[in-house]
Amino acid sequence: MLFAHDTECSLIAATALVNTAGRDGELLPDVAALDAFFTRHAYSGRHEHTDSELRAVRQLRPRLRRIWHAEPSEVVAIVNALLLEHRALPQLIEHDDEPYHLHAVPRDAPLATRMAVEAAMAIADLVRMGELSRLRICEYPDCGNVVVDLSRNRSRRFCEAGCGNRAAVTAYRARRAAGRP
Ligand SMILES: [Zn+2]
Ligand SMILES: [Zn+2]
Repeated sequence: MLFAHDTECSLIAATALVNTAGRDGELLPDVAALDAFFTRHAYSGRHEHTDSELRAVRQLRPRLRRIWHAEPSEVVAIVNALLLEHRALPQLIEHDDEPYHLHAVPRDAPLATRMAVEAAMAIADLVRMGELSRLRICEYPDCGNVVVDLSRNRSRRFCEAGCGNRAAVTAYRARRAAGRP
């Protein structure tokens, strides 16, 4: 494990959230899609199942995406702004059989608020450890999805949306076309 468990979970969830407005178009088209996202990333706490909750979550995405494209000083500004705006106050808590981890806003805060603060706290860890280079853009041509590389050898190049496979197929075809097996 490179980072604390909650940091890694938050980074994976933030990456997935940004990519719900990525190469595959709108992946949070309705409340049901947000429900599925909530379950997939093991969120807990307040969940309203409403259009306004969905809208708030969608609106968070461009702000988080900016973190992947920004210089470190701007990343810091975004993280600090998110923490300040949501009045983040880190507290260690345990719930649902999870060991002690940090929550910086109450569990009954709106979902988009918790997503924003969790992402900001996790990115803050990356900044402190000098690991912002783990945030990358998928290398597959014209993909544009964001990637978080949590591999030990920093080898992750493609997003979760199948670009690794696409790249392998492209490379295979190129070899065949060149007459090499
Ligand atoms: Zn928790
Ligand atoms: Zn990709």
